[in-house]
Amino acid sequence: MVVERAARPPVALYVHVPFCVALCPYCDFVVYAGRSARGPAARVDAFLAALAVELELRADDLDAAFGVPGERPPLRSVYLGGGTPSLLSARSVATLLDAVRRRFGLSGDAEVTLEANPGPDERGDLPGFAAAGVTRLSLGAQSLDASELRRIGRRHSPGDVLAALREARRAGIRSISVDLLYDIPDQRQATWRSTLDAVLDAGVDHVSAYALTLDDPDAEGLTGPLGDHLPTRPGARAWRERARSEQDPDRAADLYLAADELLGARGLRWYELSNWSVPGAESRHNLAYWRHEPYEALGPGAHAFDGGTRRRWNAARLDGYLAALLPAPGTGGGPARPPGGPARPPGGEERLDDRTRAVEEAILALRLRDGIGPEVAARPAVSEALAWGRGYGLVEDVEGGRVRLSLRGRLLANEVLGRIA
Ligand code: SF4
Repeated sequence: MVVERAARPPVALYVHVPFCVALCPYCDFVVYAGRSARGPAARVDAFLAALAVELELRADDLDAAFGVPGERPPLRSVYLGGGTPSLLSARSVATLLDAVRRRFGLSGDAEVTLEANPGPDERGDLPGFAAAGVTRLSLGAQSLDASELRRIGRRHSPGDVLAALREARRAGIRSISVDLLYDIPDQRQATWRSTLDAVLDAGVDHVSAYALTLDDPDAEGLTGPLGDHLPTRPGARAWRERARSEQDPDRAADLYLAADELLGARGLRWYELSNWSVPGAESRHNLAYWRHEPYEALGPGAHAFDGGTRRRWNAARLDGYLAALLPAPGTGGGPARPPGGPARPPGGEERLDDRTRAVEEAILALRLRDGIGPEVAARPAVSEALAWGRGYGLVEDVEGGRVRLSLRGRLLANEVLGRIA
């Protein structure tokens, strides 16, 4: 049963920029690559025009629900993710952030993250991004081993990662995070440890380390016309099948333990299952997701949550996104629009019933170092799962009656989280 809970104004905004120079075979983000991303046939300008219209429409909705900025609280975080947002010009990022400030409000100390790829033709204008208001860089390094990078189809080199980190520091970007992948086929402890050492030596203050996941969004029914994923290309599907057969959960656990030990020894402590940071450099944006706070979202495939019972998403397909928001082709760029003016892009929504909401809150909170509070821990499905986990040493009690995953529990998190669900 859906028990209506009041929606709340968003604390964070996610903007999805769906372009990359090339597609990585394991990627299931919403991405258009090659000619869509660069050159005369690129669709970036059309996307930016549509994004500006969507931003106004979503802000209109918030004005109607909560009052204009000033009457409602400003955003604490903006996250430009993708895709490769660093392919945008600094001027486009500045224009976008100006519109966000004007229509959503942005607190003076807001975290403004931009995802970048390390290649020299991908990392973009880092000083320009800093001048536009970007305070945090999230760099898709994945590995600093040349052979691993080749095996997962990445186009950058280890040297590109180090050069990008140097440039970001010189540009004065306050916080620098890297994304790393483990459980890459044939990955060895030695290369993983040297990757971790190298990024730490380069002075990052935040590391996200994710096991390579090789999902099949088609099989999960996520790629229909209103789905939030794009169909998997046949070459990528074949690559994933091969790579899946070369993964090894025991090796993955050893690599995770090595990361936790090395990062911890260098002052980055875990604060979420896959995230480590120096104190104070935790991702404010992602914490909003994990704490079930309300967030707004723009762009193809992006998800928003109203903090009450409604979650909505935009469909992944760029054509439908552009068609809803821009004047129909052939209207000469004049005032003509789709009948009735621009429409919210196609997509879907779901209502969270009380149980789903409670389960989600518990699962997200248990991913965090803070763990879950006594009230959530006492809910029937949760307390049973925790009792089971306690029996196997997978959860531990911490101060204030809170419960969190032990180190062993982090390795077997799915076992505990699955029992709550
Ligand atoms: S660079 Fe990132 S977003 Fe782009 S295709 Fe590769 S994994 Fe996906």
